Amino acid sequence: MAFDNIRQSQPRVVQLLENSMKKDRLSHAYLFEGEPGTKKFQTAIYFAQMLLCKAEDNKPCQQCSNCRRVKQGIHPNLYIVEPDNNMIKKQQIQDLQNEFAKTSIEPGKKVYIIKDIDTINVSAANSLLKFLEEPYPGIHGILTTNNINRLLPTIISRSQVVQFHALNKDIIIADIKDAGYDDEMARVLAHITNNVDEALQVASQEYFLDLLDAVRDVFRILATGEMPLVLYFNQNHSIIYQDKDMSVLFLSLLTLYQKDIIHHRTGDTLHIVFRDQMETIAILSDMKPKNRLIDELESMLSLKSRIRSYINERLAYDNLLLELERR
Ligand SMILES: [Zn+2]
Repeated sequence: MAFDNIRQSQPRVVQLLENSMKKDRLSHAYLFEGEPGTKKFQTAIYFAQMLLCKAEDNKPCQQCSNCRRVKQGIHPNLYIVEPDNNMIKKQQIQDLQNEFAKTSIEPGKKVYIIKDIDTINVSAANSLLKFLEEPYPGIHGILTTNNINRLLPTIISRSQVVQFHALNKDIIIADIKDAGYDDEMARVLAHITNNVDEALQVASQEYFLDLLDAVRDVFRILATGEMPLVLYFNQNHSIIYQDKDMSVLFLSLLTLYQKDIIHHRTGDTLHIVFRDQMETIAILSDMKPKNRLIDELESMLSLKSRIRSYINERLAYDNLLLELERR
């Protein structure tokens, strides 16, 4: 993942942190909260660089030994705590406090990052609260969480809360492309999830490309009428409705494609995701009135939301495909 694009990924957060540096109003504890995939941890590392960088500028230079050691996770003044078996334990908080009491630490600021602070257990939280109540000069904590509702109010009230918002789609697409995927794939994945890690995980499923092909086939057959859709689907893709995860992903891709047809119908071609499918999309968008296309989209979404509780998936799929085929 491109590390230097933190400024573009979370511009408002970086601005806020820079301002508190400039005005010398640094908090002793920050709470970074937001959905998974909003780069809270990467931003915490970036902020640690800002705090420890030798250059005068507020923007970390990425060149000095401090910036480099922070990035590699080997700076003695940076201490990172991560959940151990899904839990942050008292011993981990004590180790953090002991570490910062050592004389081997270099002069200057000290930074600790606690990842997923919502997983902290009660006795660890009590130790941490004491640490937060008696702030030591030059020590700054960055706590991150995907779920602020699960945090003790006492932790929230002792921190400056920094909200992270979903990343811009273009950033997500760029990150997925950085991981080696082409334009079309990156666009499709970025529209399935806002979380780059999750997108890469979806892409690594061995059946992902097969599902993409299946979706393209379904719409091609609708456009050409070359064979009955239900017959084609049951002959070639019955595996999809036998696996709930596969089914959910398939329906996500199907709805994406359907939205493309609706975008085309309304003249909004800029938002089309499957750009390599323009010809088929154009044919389909001319075939039915807009309301019909929207009804079909609703049927897809409705099937997707119910699929995990379905008993007769085949029947549900047959009904959906027959609806799509109706002229
Ligand atoms: Zn630097």
